[in-house]
Amino acid sequence: MATLEIRDLHVSVNAEGGPRQILKGVDLTVKQGETHAIMGPNGSGKSTLAYSLAGHPKYTVTGGQVLLDGEDVLEMSVDERAKAGLFLAMQYPVEVPGVSVSNFLRTAATAVRGEAPKLRLWVKEVKEAMAALQMDPAFAERNVNEGFSGGEKKRHEILQLELLKPKVAILDETDSGLDVDALRIVSEGINRVRSTGEVGTLLVTHYTRILRYIKPDYVHVFAGGKIVESGGAELADKLEEEGYESYVKGGA
Ligand code: ADP
Ligand code: MG
Ligand code: MG
Repeated sequence: MATLEIRDLHVSVNAEGGPRQILKGVDLTVKQGETHAIMGPNGSGKSTLAYSLAGHPKYTVTGGQVLLDGEDVLEMSVDERAKAGLFLAMQYPVEVPGVSVSNFLRTAATAVRGEAPKLRLWVKEVKEAMAALQMDPAFAERNVNEGFSGGEKKRHEILQLELLKPKVAILDETDSGLDVDALRIVSEGINRVRSTGEVGTLLVTHYTRILRYIKPDYVHVFAGGKIVESGGAELADKLEEEGYESYVKGGA
C-alpha cells in the first residue's frame, strides 16, 4: 500500500516584497485507499500545500519532508512526481496551445506508465471515461484548457484522474464553479476512482457541499498554515453548522 507522508512541512511563497512563510508545520499521512478532506478558511494555505506538493516554482520548502513510500518527493521533478504516482491537477500547464485533449492525455499516460498505451485500447479507454463523466466526445479534440469553462476544467481534471490511475491524488477546490449536476457527475467520478481502493485522495476544499457526495474517512481543519484539528466525517458536519470562526481567532 502506497503512503504519502508529509512531515512538519514549512513553505514560504515568493511574494512581491520578499518571501512570506505560509505553511507552518503540516503533518499528514495519506494511505492508498483513504480519503482525506482538508478544510479551512480562505487564505489559510490549503492551495499552498497543494502547489508545494506539485513542485510549483513559486513555493519554497523551508523545512520538513514529503515522502511517497519512503522516497523523497521534494527531490523529484514535476514529471518524476507524476511517475511516482502522485496526481496533482495543477501539475500540468494552464493552457497547452495546439495540443488536443486526446493527445495530451496520451502523452501524460505515457509519462506515468513508462510506455505509450496501445492506440486502439487507449481510444476506447478515453471514450469510456468521457462517457462516464457525461462529456461530449468532441471535447477530446479541443485544445487543452483553451476556452474551457470552470466546469470543463474540473471534468478534464477528473478525466485525467480516471485515466492516469495514480497512487495518491490531490484535488484542490474540485467543487468550485460547478453547478449541482456537474458536482454530482464529478463526485461520482472521484467515487469510482476511490472504489478501486487503490488511490489515496486528498480533497482540499473550503466548502462542505462536495462532502455530501464524497464521504471522507478523515477530515482535517486547516488554519494559519497547519492542521489544527482532525477527525472523521462528523467533523465536516460540525464545520457546516459552525463555520471556521472558532479556528481563526488569531486570523487565518
Ligand atoms: P487557501 O487556498 O487556503 O485559500 P492559499 O494557499 O491560496 O490559501 O493562500 C495562503 C496565503 O498565502 C494567502 O495569504 C495568500 O495571499 C498567500 N499567497 C499564496 N500564494 C501566493 C503567491 N503566489 N504570491 C503571494 N502570496 C501568496
Ligand atoms: Mg483561496
Ligand atoms: Mg485555495
